[in-house]
Amino acid sequence: HGAIRLESLTRSYGRVVALDDVDLEVRAGEMMTLVGPSGSGKSTILRLIAGLDRPDGGRILVDGQDVSQVPPHRRAVAMVFQDFALYPHLTVLGNLLFGLRVRRVRRDEADRRARSAAERLGIGDLLDRYPDQTSGGQRQRIALARALLREPTVYLLDEPLASLDAPLRFATRADLLALHRDLGTTTVHVTHDQAEAMTLGDRVAVLDRGRIRQVGPPQQVYDE
Ligand code: ADP
Ligand code: ADP
Repeated sequence: HGAIRLESLTRSYGRVVALDDVDLEVRAGEMMTLVGPSGSGKSTILRLIAGLDRPDGGRILVDGQDVSQVPPHRRAVAMVFQDFALYPHLTVLGNLLFGLRVRRVRRDEADRRARSAAERLGIGDLLDRYPDQTSGGQRQRIALARALLREPTVYLLDEPLASLDAPLRFATRADLLALHRDLGTTTVHVTHDQAEAMTLGDRVAVLDRGRIRQVGPPQQVYDE
């Protein structure tokens, strides 16, 4: 479940070529890390997989299905944004319940699932707070818990640790890895931090100016 295939993807913004003929396969259950300098096309790949943007050419298959053929509410993809994108006027619990309510999950069932996801990410005692009453690391966990509740077959993480300070980044990296091992959900993770790419991905794809230069296990990519 959750195999991704990118075929000959191209995307330009005006004169800027963001992606130039990108082919990539992510295996079901794998964590693939996209690494490369700022502007190399990493976020564009995530947005295309999420269906938040369309390619100019090529196609994206998730479990063999062309993403553009699947209506948004049927896409089993959850994206965690760099700035977490939490609703500031809702409590942590409200943030977790929001998507479940939209999907018309019964209140008691939604409550049970939200609390269970919060426990899993160690934020069970923050449910009554508002996002601005929590730390950066806690907000990161709220965003992950909310993504968890979508029960995705694919996680897309856009620099999920970038806004954390170094010690927290290190601790959260370990948690992220444990969560991935535990869930076994296909994950595409974007970073420009080489240490993160070394430790977080089963495989690493190195992007440069809209092209994939290398794909392989971290040791292999960084030994060359
Ligand atoms: P990365 O995530 O590696 O930093 P991006 O995928 O965000 O790179 O961007 C790739 C290139 O496409 C950059 O040159 C960026 O400026 C450009 N780009 C991305 N999104 C847009 C957009 N919505 N409008 C204009 N240019 C964009
Ligand atoms: P739900 O989360 O239950 O789908 P939302 O109102 O939050 O309800 O989302 C509406 C639509 O926006 C979703 O069907 C989905 O396509 C898209 N969407 C929302 N959140 C995300 C996310 N984290 N990653 C990717 N797509 C999302």
